[in-house]
Amino acid sequence: MVNNPLMDTYRRANLTFVKGDGVWIETSEGERYLDMGSGIAVNALGHANSELIKALIVQSQKLWHTSNLYSIPSQIQLAKKLVENTFAEKVFFTNSGTESIECAIKVARKYQFEKGNELKTDIITFEGSFHGRSIAAISASGSKKLTSGFAPLVAGFKSIPFEDMDALVGYSFERVGGILIEPIQGEGGIRETSGTFLKKLREICDANDILLIFDEVQSGVGRTGSFLAHEQLDVKPDIVAIAKGIGGGFPLGCCLASEKASKAMIAGTHGSTFGGNPLACAVGLAVLERIFSENFLEAVREKGIYLKEQLRELVIGYPNVFESARGVGLMLGLKCTVQSNIFINKAYKNRLLVVPAGDNVVRLLPPLNITYSELDEALKRLKNAANDVKDEQ
Ligand code: PLP
Repeated sequence: MVNNPLMDTYRRANLTFVKGDGVWIETSEGERYLDMGSGIAVNALGHANSELIKALIVQSQKLWHTSNLYSIPSQIQLAKKLVENTFAEKVFFTNSGTESIECAIKVARKYQFEKGNELKTDIITFEGSFHGRSIAAISASGSKKLTSGFAPLVAGFKSIPFEDMDALVGYSFERVGGILIEPIQGEGGIRETSGTFLKKLREICDANDILLIFDEVQSGVGRTGSFLAHEQLDVKPDIVAIAKGIGGGFPLGCCLASEKASKAMIAGTHGSTFGGNPLACAVGLAVLERIFSENFLEAVREKGIYLKEQLRELVIGYPNVFESARGVGLMLGLKCTVQSNIFINKAYKNRLLVVPAGDNVVRLLPPLNITYSELDEALKRLKNAANDVKDEQ
């Protein structure tokens, strides 16, 4: 008899949560934690949001699932909302970020194949990126940590240094069919890609018939204060993968694409049993209703500016704990001078949830509807945790 029937794939904190309400989440012992992680940028409208609960209950009493063999009206409605509010002209629904990325890769390869560019199968990706855990997604990231022991990987991914213009000079793009990049690396440690770099990528794509793919699984759905992060950088992609926030906690993702990029994705080229089922779409519609409501995104931007400013102050006050504050909107990070896990454990002690990331960064990804007084409470707890770290130095 095994003690733990779960595969040991996660290094879990010793915390068990049983209910939540907005930015608050409660353990089985009744301890309330302030959740500045939102299930890693998922609970975009906080826990137990009444509008999302209502949408889910109403739909669950009508119809849960029909399969994509039939027309799903809420799926069409949700796709229309996405098309009206983004660069996209076509949408494919998935259940997760990884599946959205898989779809994005398939769209790019199929586009090139149908154009007769059969050699253009390579996808350029960037060091430090994270695109999910499927074999294709780990192959795309190229990180040794993710790929070790899983060979053979999917061929055709070429990882180059992040934000490095020199790596692009003299690169031979003949075999390249797509460039895949996170406008802000999430798991990699809240590393922002500059508008200049993305514009350069756009130029390269235009000159070489390459599709520009943004992974906005973490940065999308209002997280940075615009619906998609790239909107603030003024660069138009051909394909964008989103997930996480769009379901507000219900598994939902999608691959957004231009008409041109997705033209070859005809019947039979792709599919999903659950992707965009009535339950997921009902919740997705309720999430978007809120995110596209008046002043919502503007408020995210303003709260982001406020929080980042306060984080900068915190960094100045605790140079032996933090090195810098990074990020945009409510996708922020604190690069630590101590080991980030030391700080995260102190945050837990102060009943505050924050999320680890690469590059020794602690991520702050609160619900987008967090209030200023909740932000101040989070800042107070961050400061207390920093003091606790300092006391032990
Ligand atoms: N892409 C990015 C940028 C992510 O942050 C993640 C998850 O953290 C993924 C893809 C994979 O998403 P999922 O875990 O929903 O499959």
